[in-house]
Amino acid sequence: MAARLLDGAATASAIRAEVAPAVAAFRERAGRPPGLGIVLVGDDPASEIYVRGKLKSAADAGLRADLERLPASAPLKALLGVVERLNASDVHDGILVQSPLPREMGADAERRVFDAVAPEKDVDGFHPINVGKLVQNRAELVACTPAGVIELLERSAVPIAGRHAVVIGRSDIVGKPISLLLLHRHATVTICHSRTADLVHVSAEADILVAAIGRPGFVTRDFVKPGAVVVDVGITPVSDRAVVERLFEAGSKRRDAFERRGSLVVGDVHPDVAEVAGALTPVPGGVGPLTIAMLLKNTVTAARLRAC
Ligand code: NAP
Repeated sequence: MAARLLDGAATASAIRAEVAPAVAAFRERAGRPPGLGIVLVGDDPASEIYVRGKLKSAADAGLRADLERLPASAPLKALLGVVERLNASDVHDGILVQSPLPREMGADAERRVFDAVAPEKDVDGFHPINVGKLVQNRAELVACTPAGVIELLERSAVPIAGRHAVVIGRSDIVGKPISLLLLHRHATVTICHSRTADLVHVSAEADILVAAIGRPGFVTRDFVKPGAVVVDVGITPVSDRAVVERLFEAGSKRRDAFERRGSLVVGDVHPDVAEVAGALTPVPGGVGPLTIAMLLKNTVTAARLRAC
């Protein structure tokens, strides 16, 4: 039987619909809309698309959204200067620095920039203070994609308490925060990574399996217990025909899309998993749309908290 698809687009619209009256109420009280400052360094094409999407969604939701751009050659000091300016701004409640930063900025640039964002404006939830609060289950601003995964599970009535959740991936921005959020909802959580022994066996014990790896189609049906809920966080642009042919049959919708465009965005979960899982987030249309919805929600939360 085919897995139930967990509809991220519909859940994201529901969240956006809830954000709209919160924006109106804040505007009424504060005499201005909640404000978001987005910083984009360089001209990475994927980042351009993401940032355009965030600006449009913020504007559609009635937020003030300003883009600050720096050239790829900008020194880290200049970027930290922009962050400081936004930290001091009265009209910006949230700050988002689009990653990845250009390699020339240095290996620790992202860490230094995320650390420089004022914690109360940290709508990405990456600042150590907000991460610490997440560990203690008292976070107000939680990383958008992990928070979106939980919204999707809860609004799709997927039980979490008492379930065994296996998260593949332990990054600071996805795997770890998702694991903590599941733990706080009383799942028993196993975190896996590239050195996990017998990953297939461990994964196949999950009631809820989260893949946050960045490897197209890595999670095959043998990773999945029949009836498990599978959350596919991965989004990898693929233009290699061999990879697409391995994952999608000739004549399928996704294969046709590849033939038309020459590239596809592919998740970490192999399409065959749909025959085994009880529920599954599709790519695209699963976790992806929730990231921006949660950014809007976090911006309104930050605005409300700053106004208190
Ligand atoms: P990341 O920092 O590269 O982390 C990948 C994680 O996967 C690491 O913990 C790594 O283990 C683990 N891993 C890699 N190969 C593995 C293997 N063969 N077996 C087991 N574990 C393995 O990536 P990320 O930033 O967390 O992102 C993960 C994916 O989510 C990417 O596709 C990214 O594009 C996507 N993403 C989506 C959204 C969205 O809006 N939907 C937002 C953010 C990210 P080690 O720690 O041992 O290296």
